Amino acid sequence: MKVLLVFAHPEPRSLNGALRDIAIAELKTGGHGVQVSDLYADRWKSEVDRTDFASLAPDARLRVAAASGESFAAHTLTDDVLAEHEKLLWADTLILQFPFWWFSMPAILKGWVDRVFSYGFAYGVGEHSDTHWGDRYGEGTLSGKRAMLVVTTGGWEEHYAARGINGPIDDLLFPIHHGILYYPGYEVLPPFVAYRVDHLDEVGFEDVAQRLRDRMRTLATTAPISYRRQNGGDYLIPTLQLRPELGDPGATGFALHSTERGSLPALPDRTC
Ligand code: FAD
Repeated sequence: MKVLLVFAHPEPRSLNGALRDIAIAELKTGGHGVQVSDLYADRWKSEVDRTDFASLAPDARLRVAAASGESFAAHTLTDDVLAEHEKLLWADTLILQFPFWWFSMPAILKGWVDRVFSYGFAYGVGEHSDTHWGDRYGEGTLSGKRAMLVVTTGGWEEHYAARGINGPIDDLLFPIHHGILYYPGYEVLPPFVAYRVDHLDEVGFEDVAQRLRDRMRTLATTAPISYRRQNGGDYLIPTLQLRPELGDPGATGFALHSTERGSLPALPDRTC
């Protein structure tokens, strides 16, 4: 396998830094190729602005999607973005690793998505018609590849359970899983989540590390989340509503968009 690990933590000596090194070592031991985008170390520019689009006339109004699409088609995106495109095309597996901050990814990683997932590359792909609403949600530039999150949380696993105060982790990660990764075509693997890590002792650390090694060893064989494909017949076009006969009667919410009932199956690495 060829793995791109995008890492978003400001401190290399952090828990996340240690877990990143463990993941890389395990992948290399397995004979896999690994590239890393270390966003803080690389001083990644996270905000989209007009300096991203050199061909935009100085007095032109910036319309981000249009400028992104024009620059992508004209091969005039900035070198840092183009380098990330090359890595994404090289990799058959993408890992996004980050501490859970305010129920989401750190801003620098969101900014990596905003700038790297360009129009024509990750969105605005494919034909739009009465029967086909673009190549997205299971189709697109990155289809045939796998993606997975490696996340650490301060909150306990119980706080992220079905009835926990924080809301279910599968729901909280849905915008990243479905909206960012499945959208441009990735098959999304169940996440690796290490809960309640802020006061981790050596025993707890070794448990998390071992579970992460196990996940790295099974990256190629782990079954992805069974999201429904947009153009696979489950949705009405153009409303993109799930057909009324599908899903549990009366059900609403994120779980409708996977063919599994309820939340994701329990995996060994999701039990701490
Ligand atoms: P670190 O602080 O680096 O380490 C955590 C523990 O691991 C420490 O006890 C440390 O001693 C130990 N450790 C580190 N490295 C090793 C090693 N090599 N060997 C052994 N032990 C080690 N949490 C939520 O649940 N939900 C939120 O919405 C949320 N929002 C947040 C927002 C912000 C802005 C911040 C700063 C934190 C937030 N948190 C939240 C908590 C956050 O998710 C955790 O603090 C984070 O996941 C911890 O990861 P870290 O890499 O920073 O850990």
